Amino acid sequence: MDFSWTSEQNHLRNEVIEFAQKELNKGVPEDEQKNIFPREKWKKCADLGVLSWPFEKEFGGKGFDILTTVYLLEGLGYGSNDNGLPFSLNSQLWSTMAAINKFGNKHQKEKFLKRLCIGAIGAFGITELDSGSDCYNMSTTAVKKEGGYLLNGEKHYITLAPECEIAVVFASTNQKLGKWGITAFIVERGMEGFTTSKVRDKVGMRTTPMGNLYLKNCFVPEENRLGKEGSGLSLFASAMESERGYIFASQIGRLEKQLEISIAYANERKAFGSSIGSFQSISNRIANMKLRLETSKMHLYKVAYLDSINAPLISEAAMAKLYISEAFVESSLDFIRIHGAKGIVTEYEIERDLRDGLGGLIYSGTSDIQRNIIAKLEGVL
Ligand SMILES: Cc1cc2nc3c(=O)[nH]c(=O)nc-3n(C[C@H](O)[C@H](O)[C@H](O)COP(=O)(O)OP(=O)(O)OC[C@H]3O[C@@H](n4cnc5c(N)ncnc54)[C@H](O)[C@@H]3O)c2cc1C
Repeated sequence: MDFSWTSEQNHLRNEVIEFAQKELNKGVPEDEQKNIFPREKWKKCADLGVLSWPFEKEFGGKGFDILTTVYLLEGLGYGSNDNGLPFSLNSQLWSTMAAINKFGNKHQKEKFLKRLCIGAIGAFGITELDSGSDCYNMSTTAVKKEGGYLLNGEKHYITLAPECEIAVVFASTNQKLGKWGITAFIVERGMEGFTTSKVRDKVGMRTTPMGNLYLKNCFVPEENRLGKEGSGLSLFASAMESERGYIFASQIGRLEKQLEISIAYANERKAFGSSIGSFQSISNRIANMKLRLETSKMHLYKVAYLDSINAPLISEAAMAKLYISEAFVESSLDFIRIHGAKGIVTEYEIERDLRDGLGGLIYSGTSDIQRNIIAKLEGVL
């Protein structure tokens, strides 16, 4: 693996950081407090190309390689004080768009991927009220009708659901086959029987809208079936590899920013006649934050490297997801501790990271589920 970045990659990343600092940081505390999704900022990110970086030019993408893409997403997270908007963008990129890119036919990519690249909003729904970790045990059904399928069911806790224009949803086309009978569909806003709702409040990622998708006798034409009947399992597994591998790219940028702010504070804040950084308990925290940052980067880049050579990456993606999500929570707690009381007062914009980090322990499969995957692939029966 080559760990160096080209001057072109560094130049692009600096542009992204400048963009984020200039365009994304105004009004964050207010939006966060009121759970407002910053749609104008989303559009600006799309105009910059964030939603098109890794996709083929033929379908509206910029054609960047995967390592460059995650490096730029890191820059976005470094420059943005809000984790919610970068999380929303990453969620769309690595689940909805990755699935359509890999499993969609030419017509579907022309119709949907192109729109998503320029800022349309897409959700990805598998979770139901009674099936989360055990998501293949779903109740949503798709019954074949002439020219398409009739979908019935509900998807819960779905990122971007309230704002989505399209949604990739999973339904059983043959319940007797269990997980082998699952199929993915692209549902479009405006289709009869398709509605959404919004979760009123949540602990963190408050600028990311979350909600439910409702399908009530919703007719979806055959041309909107993503992949073959029964291919939902492999489609979902593939989307989870990219989601687990990359969804934390921007949060790694935020870990870098936390570290810089913490070092400056440790050097400037005085207690007992010296800077607090001179106390080993503080400098150890900073060393741990640095270690978590660098280890997180190694996990991210390893997944991207394996992806770039088409090597298997199930275990590496699970390890990346598990490690980075937990590292983010631990470093966010150190970020608070280093700042003392300031750390928990909202106006200093320190405590938000810990709240934003909590969801990371759950989405894309909980930490427990990642450990199960890793152990199984190591040979534990
Ligand atoms: C911020 C956020 C965004 C999300 N976005 C989406 C989205 O866009 N689309 C979507 O479909 N879903 C989304 N989800 C839902 C998410 O995927 C599920 O919440 C997650 O898979 C866990 O399911 P659950 O909440 O039903 O918990 P459960 O599956 O009920 O788990 C409860 C507890 O039991 C543990 N557990 C369950 N099974 C096992 C096992 N086999 N071994 C060990 N421990 C186990 C879990 O680790 C957890 O601690 C999102 C969730 C969050 C928090």
